Amino acid sequence: MSVCGDTLAQHEVAGFKIGVGFAYSKCRHCECNFEDMQEQFNEDLFVKRTMASHNRQCNDIEKANTDFLKDNLKMTYGINGRSKLTEFPHFDIINQTPQDIMHVILEDVAPYEIKCVYLKHLVLSGHMDAFNSAIICFPYSPVDARDKPCPISVNTLSSNNNKLKQSAGQMLVLLKILPFLIDKLGENDYTQMLLKLLEIVKILFSSIIALSTLSRLKLLIEHHLKHFKHLFPDANIIPKQHYLLHLPSQIKALGPTVRHVYAL
Ligand SMILES: [Zn+2]
Repeated sequence: MSVCGDTLAQHEVAGFKIGVGFAYSKCRHCECNFEDMQEQFNEDLFVKRTMASHNRQCNDIEKANTDFLKDNLKMTYGINGRSKLTEFPHFDIINQTPQDIMHVILEDVAPYEIKCVYLKHLVLSGHMDAFNSAIICFPYSPVDARDKPCPISVNTLSSNNNKLKQSAGQMLVLLKILPFLIDKLGENDYTQMLLKLLEIVKILFSSIIALSTLSRLKLLIEHHLKHFKHLFPDANIIPKQHYLLHLPSQIKALGPTVRHVYAL
């Protein structure tokens, strides 16, 4: 058994901090802090959470004798409290609450990274209008036409969030046509970064994944995030990008991530 769903709902039901923005530990899989998240892109370099460590931390919170200490521990551990799910026999809330790629990829990682490329490359190189025209004029299949992506407006780019104002379905279509759109831009560091993202997405959306592919996926994710940080040194690695590091282990334990999608 595993619990799927969006990140906020999963964090709520599993007793982790719902919005990880102010939590010191920002991940329900490992005990990473913000600084480590910006610099380390290999899962093996992080201390993994386990049910034993989780229970210890819940005990610490419950034993805290002042509200101040309790709140501090909650913030440090990134835990709100002991979840009811821990009472289920043999249920492991660390390993059986998988990340959902619809939320991780389509609602956060892909829009965020494409927005960075728009802001730092397409706008500055004068390709933004041509890129948007290519989105409008692309010969979509009848199925994809139902989720035709919107061109990216200046308002969307200037908004203070990581979103591109596309639904998950539109984002999926945008990713499908992205190789054709960036082909017109010629090869450069930015288009290479997006092509690597697509390689990762292709594996994550595959219904069958060989074990040997998992080693490649782990390396691809590590190199991709290093490349992203190199291209955008002022942009933060957001928690959803960090969650990518844990997906190869998730696939090894629970099977292809496309089967962990709650609703698509
Ligand atoms: Zn983590």
